[in-house]
Amino acid sequence: MTIVGPVLWDRPVYASHMSSRIFNFSAGPAVMPLPVLEQAQRELVTLPGVGMSVMEISHRSKTFEDLLNGAIADIRELANVPSHYRLLMLQGGASLQFSMVPMNLLSSGSTADYIDTGTWADKAIKEATRVGRVNVTGSTKASNYNRIPAARELTLTPGAAYVHITSNNTIEGTQWHTLPDTGDVPLVADASSDIFSRPTDIGRFGLIYAGAQKNLGPSGVTLVIVREDLLSRSRADLPTMLSYKVQSDNNSLYNTPNTFGVYILGLTMKWLKSLGGLAAIARLNERKASTLYAEVDRTGFYRGTAEKASRSLMNVTFRLPSEALEKEFEKAATKTGLDGLKGHRLVGGMRASIYNAFPEEGVAALVQFMREFERTKG
Ligand code: PMP
Repeated sequence: MTIVGPVLWDRPVYASHMSSRIFNFSAGPAVMPLPVLEQAQRELVTLPGVGMSVMEISHRSKTFEDLLNGAIADIRELANVPSHYRLLMLQGGASLQFSMVPMNLLSSGSTADYIDTGTWADKAIKEATRVGRVNVTGSTKASNYNRIPAARELTLTPGAAYVHITSNNTIEGTQWHTLPDTGDVPLVADASSDIFSRPTDIGRFGLIYAGAQKNLGPSGVTLVIVREDLLSRSRADLPTMLSYKVQSDNNSLYNTPNTFGVYILGLTMKWLKSLGGLAAIARLNERKASTLYAEVDRTGFYRGTAEKASRSLMNVTFRLPSEALEKEFEKAATKTGLDGLKGHRLVGGMRASIYNAFPEEGVAALVQFMREFERTKG
């Protein structure tokens, strides 16, 4: 941590944790806001006024319902969710949504369009194919998923059940910056790795889903935002737990939810509100990403793997001149308290995940480290 020096010390919130907390660039589960962890720590044994831990109370209790409904209300406010959308807190991760989306929204005889922009999109496609008819309407696989396809490259199926995109491709470091125009066909997005990282017009979507473990809280909760009219597509013979309609009718309390996860997600939403909401976090995220990409582009020693126009503000992927140097870089970075920079094995190189809760100081520390590494090894 020595490279960070005084930058951190004028921030009391980090000062008290300097000895033990490092900069965590993990792609997920990922860094959480420190104030959230601290509040959870204070309240772990006894929720104020309740006399029990949040993990010890019934999910049917008023206390828990208030926590759940409070989190939902905060999300509505933060993301300006229109009233004809329902919010669900489910389990099974984003991966279960790969199945639930087609099971609920894709009736036999119709087709779902999928845009193949990365490893997770491909997994979503594979699961949907088990359920119904899928048309892959565009793919950037041929170029190692290093970009988002242009609108003219997409051939959408008229009257499709929905169009599925992966708004941020966690592994490849690309992100949709302009949504495809799907007309009346509902747009469905896997937003696991960029949800609430910037203002989003929820009204453009039929359904958005996200595993919590990057921008929302701990793993084990999956947020689904679904337009009310789409609930009528959930067939009555679906397995009960896999029906959006059942989950919605029961306010996500058909069975026991991840109560602790919902509580932490709620705290994280309050933290986001306290920062000034999605416009404020978007400014911070843009600043962090542009600082880091500027360093990646500075001399040619580092090389971004994604096309510039498709670059992700959440996962910054880059390579070094050789795999040997990449190994060395990762080892040395870890030693200085910059953890989790190894890229996904499918892409190689480095990946710095800088989600909402990742501090600006950590980006400064990485840039400083990158310069020093280049100076001595370049
Ligand atoms: N989609 C995306 C974009 C992801 O990044 C991930 C996880 N990294 C998943 C889906 C799978 O999420 P889960 O592990 O919650 O099933």
